Amino acid sequence: MGGTFDPIHHGHLVAGSEVAHLFGLDEVVFVPTGQPWQKQGKQVTPAEHRYLMTVIATASNPRFGVSRIEMDRSGPTYTIDTLRELRASYGSDIDLYFITGADALGAILGWRDAEELFELAHFVGCNRPGHKLSDPGLPDGKVSLVEIPALAISSSECRSRVSAGEPIWYLVPDGIVQYINKTGLYREPRTGEREAA
Ligand code: ATP
Ligand code: MG
Repeated sequence: MGGTFDPIHHGHLVAGSEVAHLFGLDEVVFVPTGQPWQKQGKQVTPAEHRYLMTVIATASNPRFGVSRIEMDRSGPTYTIDTLRELRASYGSDIDLYFITGADALGAILGWRDAEELFELAHFVGCNRPGHKLSDPGLPDGKVSLVEIPALAISSSECRSRVSAGEPIWYLVPDGIVQYINKTGLYREPRTGEREAA
Protein backbone atom coordinates (compact mmCIF):
# COMPACT_ATOMS: atom_id res chain seq x y z
CA MET A 1 0.00 0.00 0.00
CA GLY A 2 1.53 3.24 -1.14
CA GLY A 3 1.01 6.59 0.49
CA THR A 4 2.62 9.67 1.89
CA PHE A 5 1.50 8.70 5.41
CA ASP A 6 1.99 12.24 6.67
CA PRO A 7 0.74 11.05 9.17
CA ILE A 8 -0.65 7.52 8.81
CA HIS A 9 -4.24 7.37 10.15
CA HIS A 10 -7.01 4.84 10.76
CA GLY A 11 -8.35 5.28 7.21
CA HIS A 12 -5.09 3.83 5.82
CA LEU A 13 -5.11 0.99 8.34
CA VAL A 14 -8.74 0.07 7.72
CA ALA A 15 -8.09 0.17 3.96
CA GLY A 16 -5.10 -2.20 4.30
CA SER A 17 -7.04 -4.57 6.51
CA GLU A 18 -10.14 -4.55 4.31
CA VAL A 19 -8.26 -5.15 1.06
CA ALA A 20 -6.25 -7.96 2.70
CA HIS A 21 -9.53 -9.56 3.74
CA LEU A 22 -11.28 -9.13 0.39
CA PHE A 23 -8.38 -10.46 -1.70
CA GLY A 24 -7.01 -13.00 0.81
CA LEU A 25 -3.62 -11.31 0.97
CA ASP A 26 -0.86 -12.82 3.13
CA GLU A 27 0.79 -9.52 3.88
CA VAL A 28 0.22 -5.80 3.45
CA VAL A 29 3.41 -3.80 3.01
CA PHE A 30 3.03 -0.09 3.64
CA VAL A 31 5.40 1.87 1.43
CA PRO A 32 5.88 5.50 2.46
CA THR A 33 6.78 7.62 -0.54
CA GLY A 34 10.17 9.21 -0.86
CA GLN A 35 9.83 12.57 -2.53
CA PRO A 36 6.30 12.31 -3.94
CA TRP A 37 6.31 13.73 -7.45
CA GLN A 38 2.54 14.14 -7.41
CA LYS A 39 2.93 16.40 -4.39
CA GLN A 40 5.93 18.38 -5.66
CA GLY A 41 5.85 21.95 -4.55
CA LYS A 42 3.95 20.83 -1.48
CA GLN A 43 5.63 20.58 1.88
CA VAL A 44 6.10 16.99 2.98
CA THR A 45 7.46 15.83 6.34
CA PRO A 46 10.91 14.16 6.17
CA ALA A 47 10.58 10.50 5.18
CA GLU A 48 12.22 9.20 8.35
CA HIS A 49 9.37 10.60 10.52
CA ARG A 50 6.72 9.24 8.15
CA TYR A 51 8.45 5.86 8.13
CA LEU A 52 8.68 5.67 11.94
CA MET A 53 5.01 6.60 12.33
CA THR A 54 4.09 3.90 9.82
CA VAL A 55 6.12 1.35 11.78
CA ILE A 56 4.50 2.40 15.07
CA ALA A 57 0.99 2.21 13.59
CA THR A 58 1.46 -1.23 12.02
CA ALA A 59 3.70 -2.91 14.61
CA SER A 60 0.95 -4.85 16.38
CA ASN A 61 -0.41 -6.48 13.22
CA PRO A 62 1.57 -9.58 12.18
CA ARG A 63 0.30 -9.21 8.60
CA PHE A 64 1.35 -5.59 8.25
CA GLY A 65 4.87 -4.57 7.35
CA VAL A 66 6.66 -1.42 6.22
CA SER A 67 9.16 -1.01 3.40
CA ARG A 68 11.82 1.69 3.02
CA ILE A 69 12.07 0.91 -0.68
CA GLU A 70 10.80 4.30 -1.92
CA MET A 71 12.47 6.40 0.75
CA ASP A 72 15.87 4.89 0.16
CA ARG A 73 15.73 5.47 -3.58
CA SER A 74 16.95 8.88 -4.64
CA GLY A 75 15.00 11.10 -6.98
CA PRO A 76 11.25 11.27 -7.42
CA THR A 77 9.00 8.32 -6.61
CA TYR A 78 7.74 6.23 -9.50
CA THR A 79 5.39 3.33 -8.82
CA ILE A 80 6.91 1.32 -11.65
CA ASP A 81 10.35 1.28 -9.97
CA THR A 82 8.77 0.19 -6.69
CA LEU A 83 6.86 -2.66 -8.31
CA ARG A 84 9.93 -3.83 -10.21
CA GLU A 85 11.98 -3.87 -7.00
CA LEU A 86 9.26 -5.64 -5.00
CA ARG A 87 8.91 -8.19 -7.76
CA ALA A 88 12.67 -8.76 -7.77
CA SER A 89 12.86 -9.20 -4.00
CA TYR A 90 9.74 -11.37 -3.54
CA GLY A 91 10.24 -13.50 -6.65
CA SER A 92 8.00 -14.07 -9.64
CA ASP A 93 5.65 -16.64 -8.08
CA ILE A 94 3.71 -14.21 -5.92
CA ASP A 95 0.77 -12.01 -6.82
CA LEU A 96 1.37 -8.34 -6.17
CA TYR A 97 -1.51 -5.99 -5.41
CA PHE A 98 -0.90 -2.28 -5.44
CA ILE A 99 -3.32 -0.61 -3.05
CA THR A 100 -3.99 3.07 -3.16
CA GLY A 101 -6.83 5.57 -2.97
CA ALA A 102 -9.39 5.78 -5.75
CA ASP A 103 -8.40 9.44 -6.11
CA ALA A 104 -4.80 8.45 -6.88
CA LEU A 105 -5.95 5.74 -9.28
CA GLY A 106 -7.68 8.38 -11.36
CA ALA A 107 -4.21 9.59 -12.34
CA ILE A 108 -3.00 6.07 -13.09
CA LEU A 109 -3.08 6.34 -16.85
CA GLY A 110 -0.87 9.36 -16.60
CA TRP A 111 1.69 7.30 -14.73
CA ARG A 112 4.89 6.33 -16.45
CA ASP A 113 4.81 2.97 -18.24
CA ALA A 114 1.14 2.29 -17.48
CA GLU A 115 1.09 -0.94 -19.49
CA GLU A 116 3.99 -2.50 -17.64
CA LEU A 117 2.41 -1.40 -14.37
CA PHE A 118 -0.59 -3.58 -15.10
CA GLU A 119 1.66 -6.55 -15.91
CA LEU A 120 3.45 -6.25 -12.58
CA ALA A 121 0.49 -5.90 -10.25
CA HIS A 122 -3.23 -5.87 -9.77
CA PHE A 123 -4.38 -2.39 -8.75
CA VAL A 124 -6.85 -1.77 -5.97
CA GLY A 125 -8.42 1.65 -5.53
CA CYS A 126 -10.02 2.40 -2.16
CA ASN A 127 -12.69 4.99 -1.79
CA ARG A 128 -13.42 7.17 1.17
CA PRO A 129 -16.42 9.32 2.00
CA GLY A 130 -16.57 12.32 -0.31
CA HIS A 131 -14.57 10.59 -3.03
CA LYS A 132 -17.01 9.09 -5.47
CA LEU A 133 -16.12 5.68 -6.87
CA SER A 134 -15.99 5.86 -10.62
CA ASP A 135 -14.30 3.84 -13.30
CA PRO A 136 -11.65 6.10 -14.79
CA GLY A 137 -11.56 3.96 -17.96
CA LEU A 138 -8.92 1.50 -16.81
CA PRO A 139 -8.23 -1.89 -18.43
CA ASP A 140 -10.63 -4.70 -17.47
CA GLY A 141 -9.51 -7.17 -14.80
CA LYS A 142 -6.43 -5.18 -13.85
CA VAL A 143 -8.06 -2.77 -11.46
CA SER A 144 -10.56 -3.23 -8.64
CA LEU A 145 -12.40 -0.46 -6.87
CA VAL A 146 -13.22 -1.23 -3.29
CA GLU A 147 -15.58 0.36 -0.78
CA ILE A 148 -13.83 0.96 2.52
CA PRO A 149 -16.06 1.22 5.62
CA ALA A 150 -16.77 4.92 5.98
CA LEU A 151 -13.90 6.76 7.62
CA ALA A 152 -13.80 10.40 6.62
CA ILE A 153 -10.21 10.87 7.78
CA SER A 154 -7.37 12.42 5.82
CA SER A 155 -3.78 13.22 6.73
CA SER A 156 -4.38 16.88 5.78
CA GLU A 157 -7.21 17.09 8.28
CA CYS A 158 -5.00 15.52 10.98
CA ARG A 159 -2.21 18.04 10.26
CA SER A 160 -4.63 20.99 10.34
CA ARG A 161 -6.10 19.79 13.60
CA VAL A 162 -2.68 19.54 15.23
CA SER A 163 -1.72 23.04 14.10
CA ALA A 164 -5.04 24.39 15.39
CA GLY A 165 -4.53 22.67 18.76
CA GLU A 166 -7.45 20.30 18.13
CA PRO A 167 -7.29 16.64 19.22
CA ILE A 168 -6.48 13.80 16.84
CA TRP A 169 -7.09 11.05 19.39
CA TYR A 170 -8.90 8.11 17.75
CA LEU A 171 -8.34 9.45 14.23
CA VAL A 172 -4.83 7.97 14.40
CA PRO A 173 -3.43 5.20 16.63
CA ASP A 174 -2.45 6.28 20.16
CA GLY A 175 1.26 5.85 19.41
CA ILE A 176 0.96 8.35 16.55
CA VAL A 177 -0.65 10.98 18.80
CA GLN A 178 2.24 10.47 21.21
CA TYR A 179 4.89 10.56 18.47
CA ILE A 180 3.45 13.81 17.08
CA ASN A 181 3.36 15.39 20.56
CA LYS A 182 6.88 14.27 21.31
CA THR A 183 8.40 15.54 18.07
CA GLY A 184 6.30 18.67 17.68
CA LEU A 185 5.35 17.68 14.13
CA TYR A 186 2.54 19.66 12.42
CA ARG A 187 2.42 22.39 15.07
CA GLU A 188 3.20 25.04 12.45
CA PRO A 189 0.43 25.35 9.85
CA ARG A 190 1.49 24.72 6.26
CA THR A 191 0.86 27.30 3.61
CA GLY A 192 -2.57 26.85 2.07
CA GLU A 193 -3.27 23.75 4.15
CA ARG A 194 -6.56 24.73 5.78
CA GLU A 195 -8.19 25.27 2.40
CA ALA A 196 -6.72 22.05 0.95
CA ALA A 197 -7.81 19.80 3.84
P1 ATP B 1 -3.44 13.99 2.33
O1 ATP B 1 -4.66 14.51 3.03
O2 ATP B 1 -2.17 14.65 2.74
O3 ATP B 1 -3.61 13.92 0.84
P2 ATP B 1 -4.23 11.25 2.66
O4 ATP B 1 -5.08 11.09 3.88
O5 ATP B 1 -4.91 11.25 1.34
O6 ATP B 1 -3.27 12.49 2.84
P3 ATP B 1 -2.12 9.61 1.67
O7 ATP B 1 -0.90 9.19 2.40
O8 ATP B 1 -2.00 10.56 0.56
O9 ATP B 1 -3.14 10.14 2.78
O10 ATP B 1 -2.97 8.33 1.31
C1 ATP B 1 -2.50 7.22 0.61
C2 ATP B 1 -3.70 6.64 -0.08
O11 ATP B 1 -4.69 6.21 0.88
C3 ATP B 1 -4.35 7.73 -0.94
O12 ATP B 1 -4.42 7.31 -2.26
C4 ATP B 1 -5.69 7.95 -0.28
O13 ATP B 1 -6.73 8.15 -1.22
C5 ATP B 1 -5.96 6.69 0.52
N1 ATP B 1 -6.73 7.06 1.70
C6 ATP B 1 -6.46 8.07 2.54
N2 ATP B 1 -7.39 8.16 3.51
C7 ATP B 1 -8.29 7.19 3.28
C8 ATP B 1 -9.53 6.78 3.94
N3 ATP B 1 -9.98 7.42 5.01
N4 ATP B 1 -10.20 5.73 3.40
C9 ATP B 1 -9.74 5.12 2.30
N5 ATP B 1 -8.60 5.44 1.63
C10 ATP B 1 -7.88 6.47 2.11
MG1 MG C 1 -4.57 12.40 -0.33
